[in-house]
Amino acid sequence: MTTPFSTADEQDTAGDRPKADRPEADRHDVAVIGAGPAGLSAAMVLGRQQRRVALVDSGRARNAPAREMHMVLSRDGFPPSEYRALATAELDAYDHIDKISGTVTTITGSVGEFVLRLDDDREIQASRILLATGMTDHLIDLPGLAERWGRGVYHCAYCHGFESRGRTIGVVALRAADAVFARYLADRFSDDVALYRLDGVEIDAKMLALAQAGDVRIVDGHVTGIEGEEPTLRLLMADGTTHEREVIFHRPDARQSSPLGADLGCDIDPDWDSILVDAQHRTGVDGVYAAGDATQLRDLPNPVGFVATSAGQGQTAAIWIETELFTQNLG
Ligand SMILES: Cc1cc2nc3c(=O)[nH]c(=O)nc-3n(C[C@H](O)[C@H](O)[C@H](O)COP(=O)(O)OP(=O)(O)OC[C@H]3O[C@@H](n4cnc5c(N)ncnc54)[C@H](O)[C@@H]3O)c2cc1C
Repeated sequence: MTTPFSTADEQDTAGDRPKADRPEADRHDVAVIGAGPAGLSAAMVLGRQQRRVALVDSGRARNAPAREMHMVLSRDGFPPSEYRALATAELDAYDHIDKISGTVTTITGSVGEFVLRLDDDREIQASRILLATGMTDHLIDLPGLAERWGRGVYHCAYCHGFESRGRTIGVVALRAADAVFARYLADRFSDDVALYRLDGVEIDAKMLALAQAGDVRIVDGHVTGIEGEEPTLRLLMADGTTHEREVIFHRPDARQSSPLGADLGCDIDPDWDSILVDAQHRTGVDGVYAAGDATQLRDLPNPVGFVATSAGQGQTAAIWIETELFTQNLG
């Protein structure tokens, strides 16, 4: 667990702000919950517009286990923790942003007068809410998996496929659709992709044939554990054999990191467990916006969760929040 903010450094910095927008001293214009790429980006936009922002974070960055991140312009291959630290430090330039360490446990009230309660009983009042709370990957209890997660065992062909090119790849399937994922990896990155199953995971003949048609090798039996380090990882099989692979891909189930979206009455996609938002990142609950991995645009078939897309969504959401806050004063 990482803690981006060392102290609860709430301050009243309303004095040098546009008078019409100045909230009462103990209130914030916007509470941004979650300081990953989505929340940090939103906070910067709103801080630059001199809105008083409460940025609350519980220090559980999704990609914290990863050694490096990719597809982030000017930071390709950068450690995610350093990226967060840099982005967090940049917010110090905007003294209307109160960075608060803690977990928001409940949100009551309604638009214009939300009340957030933290796990240590602190209270924050805010006019608007941005949920940037992310998703949590629920790893199965497979010996050796958790300690190699993001460090030899990867879940995403965009984030780590390129670094796996030309290597021997093992895909540890959790569901039938992982057969298609294995075929994708074989199509893009490697001539040696093998599909492994976990105990109890059934993949029907049609899906297996689809993988085989893309030169994916189907391995009989089931995996009981992982040993070794990248690039000499070993998959332990129930029959006592071991299979060496240079890199392993495995896609765990991901679920909302926080129940706040559901608690507030936001629509949640039943298949992906994502908060459904419109193009302005409104959830449908008045005054509640959402951005980042936790969300899915209503028109899209599935969520898209990356560092840069989350930062972009946070920025978009913040701009629409700012628009709403300003136009409400126009009369
Ligand atoms: C192993 C791994 C490797 C990855 N590699 C890449 C990569 O190379 N490139 C890439 O683009 N993407 C990568 N990703 C995806 C990337 O991590 C996410 O897309 C990105 O972090 C999403 O940003 P976010 O701001 O939506 O959520 P997060 O980064 O998950 O941040 C959400 C924050 O909200 C906080 N929070 C949650 N609930 C509460 C609450 N109730 N109160 C207060 N705070 C709360 C959490 O503590 C957390 O800090 C990777 C993911 C994993 C798991």
